[in-house]
Amino acid sequence: MVKKRFPVKTYIEGIVSGDRVLLSQAITLVESTLKTDLNLAHQVVQGILPYTGNSLRLGISGIPGAGKSTLIGNLGKVILKAGKKLAVLTVDPSSKISGGSILGDKTRMEAIVGDARVYIRPSPTGNTLGGVSAKTREILLLCEAAGFDVVIIETVGVGQSEVAVKEMVDAFLLLLITGAGDELQGIKKGIMEMADFFLINKADGKNAEKAVQTKSDLEKVLHYFPAPENGWQPTVLTCSSLSHEGLQEIWESILEYEQTVKNNGFFERNRSLQQISWLETHIRFLLEREFYSHPEMASALEKGKSEVLEGKDSAIGMARRLVDLFFSRIGF
Ligand code: GDP
Repeated sequence: MVKKRFPVKTYIEGIVSGDRVLLSQAITLVESTLKTDLNLAHQVVQGILPYTGNSLRLGISGIPGAGKSTLIGNLGKVILKAGKKLAVLTVDPSSKISGGSILGDKTRMEAIVGDARVYIRPSPTGNTLGGVSAKTREILLLCEAAGFDVVIIETVGVGQSEVAVKEMVDAFLLLLITGAGDELQGIKKGIMEMADFFLINKADGKNAEKAVQTKSDLEKVLHYFPAPENGWQPTVLTCSSLSHEGLQEIWESILEYEQTVKNNGFFERNRSLQQISWLETHIRFLLEREFYSHPEMASALEKGKSEVLEGKDSAIGMARRLVDLFFSRIGF
């Protein structure tokens, strides 16, 4: 059944006035695969742009089980206490691949679930990370227009999704735990270098002492990292969602970070650069979507795959032919 759609103006006015139902419905349009919905979504997003940009955008990453959901719930409470409204979004390209979302379980955000000042939206689905992150960016803007002061974007700490999230946030927080074998938990140096904050989580019970040791080890390692261009020395903090220790400190440190990068001009510069990277990733996303959704390309692609497997053409030869075919069909 096709759900009711409203005029563009209704969505825009609803979102800007903080109507959560219309916000959710606009997000559903962004996530839709129907062309008519996407056109409507595009107009809504264009319409709310003047009301965007005012939130503090935070990325949180860490391996599954590190405690991201629990931390977001408890840190969320601190954020609410500071008088802010909070939206939580996820980037989870795994959901399509594994058939089940690693970040799907929101029950651990119980500290904030159901609070009227909180909006939690699980990851949009998609075949590609590019698609998922394009949608997440638009959802971020919709949430900003709806008046959320802090937007947390959560992602699994295992791959490329961190890079996608880093490109849409003002600060990037990496959640670590002690005692998981290799202290840095196989997290790539490139991802380590993206973090403005390292939060050593589960610093409670028997783990408390180890967490302090991990903090000190990490600080030594960070010493050898190149100086970050945002002028902020990456900060290592220990915390526990169980004992609630360290959560207030995290929030205060985030505010200090915000002040620092706003004062030294990095905040604005970074957002401008993010616009350019968004432009580029969105072009790739749109081209890819047009290619794969073209009615003739699906069968041509299947045929092309068989020909490559049969050795009739090389992969790159076939790729060229398919792209040429696509261009000819769209009259390019
Ligand atoms: P996520 O996969 O990173 O989102 O991790 P979850 O938030 O789902 O937490 C994974 C498990 O760690 C759950 O069983 C939590 O109860 C537990 N956990 C989360 N935070 C803490 C903490 O600060 N201390 C302790 N001891 N356990 C925690």
